[in-house]
Amino acid sequence: MYLQSNGFSGYDIWLDQNEEVESYTYWSHFTVKQTHDKLKPKRTFTPHVSNHSSPDDWNADIAIHGLESARYGWGWYEMGFFTYWNRSGLIMLLCFDLPAKSQSDIQTMFGLQAINCSCPYAIFSLISDALLRLYDDSVWSIRNYISQWEARRSQETDYFLLHEIARHGVHVSETLSVATRSLDAIRQHHERFRTNTDLVRGNSGHRRWDKVGSQFEFQLRFLEGLLQRSKANNARIQNEITLNHHFTIGWISPLPLEKEAARLVLDEEYPQEEVQYQDTFYLGGRIGKHEVVIGVQRKTGLSGAAILAEKMRAGFPNIKYFLLVGIAGGVPRYGPAGAVSEIVLGDVVVSSPRGNHGGVLQYDKGAWEGQGRLNFRGHTNGIPGDLMAAVNNFRAEGWSKTNIPAVLRQMRLKLDEKRRHQYDDPGPSRDRLFGGTYVHRGTELDDCKECCDADYTTSRSDRGDGATRLLDEPFVHFGNIASSNQLQISAIERDRVQQEHEAICFEMEAAGVLEEYPCVVVRGICDYADSHKNKGWQNYAAATAAACAKGLLSMLPATDAASRVESVASSSTQHTAQSWNVAFGNNNKGFQAGSFHGNISGLHFGGA
Ligand SMILES: [Zn+2]
Ligand SMILES: [Zn+2]
Repeated sequence: MYLQSNGFSGYDIWLDQNEEVESYTYWSHFTVKQTHDKLKPKRTFTPHVSNHSSPDDWNADIAIHGLESARYGWGWYEMGFFTYWNRSGLIMLLCFDLPAKSQSDIQTMFGLQAINCSCPYAIFSLISDALLRLYDDSVWSIRNYISQWEARRSQETDYFLLHEIARHGVHVSETLSVATRSLDAIRQHHERFRTNTDLVRGNSGHRRWDKVGSQFEFQLRFLEGLLQRSKANNARIQNEITLNHHFTIGWISPLPLEKEAARLVLDEEYPQEEVQYQDTFYLGGRIGKHEVVIGVQRKTGLSGAAILAEKMRAGFPNIKYFLLVGIAGGVPRYGPAGAVSEIVLGDVVVSSPRGNHGGVLQYDKGAWEGQGRLNFRGHTNGIPGDLMAAVNNFRAEGWSKTNIPAVLRQMRLKLDEKRRHQYDDPGPSRDRLFGGTYVHRGTELDDCKECCDADYTTSRSDRGDGATRLLDEPFVHFGNIASSNQLQISAIERDRVQQEHEAICFEMEAAGVLEEYPCVVVRGICDYADSHKNKGWQNYAAATAAACAKGLLSMLPATDAASRVESVASSSTQHTAQSWNVAFGNNNKGFQAGSFHGNISGLHFGGA
């Protein structure tokens, strides 16, 4: 008696006194993971309570979920096969734990095809056809989940489901590689049996044996093909998981405090580890129907903004538009006589074309000419069509009047009582507008309250009705935003640039982005772009800008990332029906099929 087993398959041979094979048994073990139409990810984790450590993930899966798994749309099948054969042509096959579908598949196959009872492996090549169908189903159902996900990508938000698909996809690949090894072992056992038995001596016998062997080889190639397909599935889903292809809106936060405000307007925030590029984490999430990725500048200024935009565009290739959202200095008033608008701290400025400029200009870009005047060369690209339409709709619908206060309230509710107050409206008493010639007395770090004379300030009420605001009801202004590399600006310089270029807002980043990328700039006003800096308004201005940007996004039609690029992984290959018709010899002696106790199915062939 010879015995060989590798844990997944094995065989015994009994010889008679002439050293010829009298009877032969072999067994094998196959695991397959199946997913069903309605995959429902678990949102809680049940710890695995066990003393033995699971050799791999899928065993842990069984231990954790057990039969309960069916409820979540998937199941493991650990199938066992045992075959007894003897020289007189008796074949007995026991199948353990087959899915009901495979049982009927196998019974149908045996009804349609003759079994060659002179080879112990002929029957198994039929069984393995049924197994191949199971593996095929596993791979293609994963593929279908992915295709559905890709098709719905722009609306899809259930990332639990995505992770669930990925998990099963990995399991399917693992079971396929084990199955390939097992079937290859069976093929080798058959090969050995064939060369070592006297049955191969007859010509007719030899021809039949070849048929079984080539059947196994065909099945192996098929399994290997499935494994490749399964690996391609996993790569595709990894692509979805890393999310980088989802984002269609790039949101630039020049400062960390502006990023924190941006975080508060996300309707959903994605796990940090899933939104990264070149070892840098970004803040990713959903705002309404938009997938938004938020980056914060490594260094301030025009070049810092330009570098960030370039990186984000490379790492998140479907970004269609950028929003630059942060705090800035504003002019106290603008507009023609008789229609003057007042800007107060906490108000928001959205870049919009005015005069000769498309919304953003760089006022320190140019060549110095005689009399110390800059010859202006700082015109930048305008705002592209869709984005401009969104700005116009936003303006026309007066979104800010009703929604910004509501968004500000929602933002605060995401924070605990203590942190919430950092986004409170500081109110009119802390809104100090100094006269144009009164220069800040202290250092850059000193608050005006300590160093500057309040007698030189004009209060909101002194500025008239146009400057009075209800608490938490900032106004949104539309006009040119002036960028420069220089932070410090005097009231006199501010007024000059305002007059010359119709700029109403001063900052240090926008021109760096607009030079290369379509972008709208949203700035919460935290000071009056003069020498008096005031940290007290920074958080609130960052919050009003973020709330306003959220409103602007609600006016922008969603862009389907899928239509932006040809997905590298997507394939037009359709699932073609496989041919399962395998011809067998005509040595059929009939079969009986029956169910035994429990979940053991037995098939009994031929017989002497
Ligand atoms: Zn001051
Ligand atoms: Zn100009």
